[in-house]
Amino acid sequence: MKIVVLKFGGTSVGTIDRIKKVANIISTYKKKGYQVVVVSSAMSGYTNDLIKKSEKVAENFKKSEYDTLVSAGEQISCSLIAGRLSHIGHFSKSMMGWQIPIYTDDNYSNAKIKSVNTSKIKEYLKQGGIPIIAGFQGIDKNERITTLGRGGSDYSAIVLAKYLKAIKCVIYTDVIGVMTTDPKVYKRARKIKVISYEEMLEMSSLGSKVMQSNSVQDARLNRIDVSVKSSFVKNVGTLITKRKNIIDHKVITGISVTKSDSKITLVGVVDRPGVAASVFEPLSVNNINVDMVVQNISADGHKTDITFTINSKDLNKTQKLIKYNKRIKFKKVIFDQNVSKISIIGVGMITTPGVTFRMFQALSKKNINILAISTSEIKISVLINRKNIRKAVATLHKEFKLD
Ligand code: ADP
Ligand code: ASP
Ligand code: MG
Repeated sequence: MKIVVLKFGGTSVGTIDRIKKVANIISTYKKKGYQVVVVSSAMSGYTNDLIKKSEKVAENFKKSEYDTLVSAGEQISCSLIAGRLSHIGHFSKSMMGWQIPIYTDDNYSNAKIKSVNTSKIKEYLKQGGIPIIAGFQGIDKNERITTLGRGGSDYSAIVLAKYLKAIKCVIYTDVIGVMTTDPKVYKRARKIKVISYEEMLEMSSLGSKVMQSNSVQDARLNRIDVSVKSSFVKNVGTLITKRKNIIDHKVITGISVTKSDSKITLVGVVDRPGVAASVFEPLSVNNINVDMVVQNISADGHKTDITFTINSKDLNKTQKLIKYNKRIKFKKVIFDQNVSKISIIGVGMITTPGVTFRMFQALSKKNINILAISTSEIKISVLINRKNIRKAVATLHKEFKLD
């Protein structure tokens, strides 16, 4: 029998009315003869609320306890869906990560899935049941509950599709698919019909939260086709697939923005071999991810300015690490939280010259100053002042004919 995995996000199960609608969607797959496995996120707002509670209880809430707490929302949504499905005549039950089990490493709050024991799910499917599986959670080797990073239900769904050899994995969300940019930032964003794993991976890791990046990485490694569509309106959505399946490449496929960057500039650092390593080593030891880096040589050739970006959540820690770093000498340090990274992504840029120039020129015509740059084969990212984000997205969307 053919298995499908259907994943529903927070807004899709956000109210009782929405849960009833989701149950109807699930029912249509069952009626078509599929074996249906459902993965659900928590009702929208629940996870955020639990995180806030942990912050009120303790500044550094115990890591392993944090995962037990923030995974709780999924238990509610899954049992409500199963309850509704039973009410409309199906055989359904909720299953938490520990009941399956879904095994992960013990990197609390951002764990990776190591294996899934599919026997209970398969047994239940054989009996004609519809398992409603809690996304975002698993257990480690000590049977402590773990979570898979924000948005981690996408990851649960794709890994389950892999282990169950599903013929389809559908991510139901609150937009009509993967769009050329976040429709909340730019209204004229359009749906992308087909996108390659590589482009989707860049878009997700550069800020497009429609798909969690670990999930895309797993889909890519296992060659799982993923559809992203709306649970609100009937539509065909977006297909995420291998590059070979895509005939028509635009130069740029999409634009992503981040809203949580901070820029740090060390002014007048004494320039000697190993200085950059001395700046970044304590950050690396403390698991702080450094993103963009720019180093300028000053006029006298003895001093240098080093600028880099980090996620704003790590700003306090970074400030302390720099202050107490005895291995570096500098004149002053500047912290700036009002920056954002805007990226253009597309495999088309590999074969099209001049994309970088077009991006920089378009931004400069609108008086948008570029603070830092980073590139890869299929993306160009620039750091700009956060107040210019909407203008920059609109400008680049037009420049690369995505409107
Ligand atoms: P879910 O709860 O279904 O997992 P998310 O909130 O995690 O949904 O992701 C959907 C949201 O992602 C959309 O509402 C949209 O604002 C945002 N988003 C950001 N970039 C994009 C994009 N390129 N295409 C579609 N949605 C995007
Ligand atoms: N409920 C979790 C979160 O808000 C997981 C998810 O939405 O996928 O991050
Ligand atoms: Mg999500």
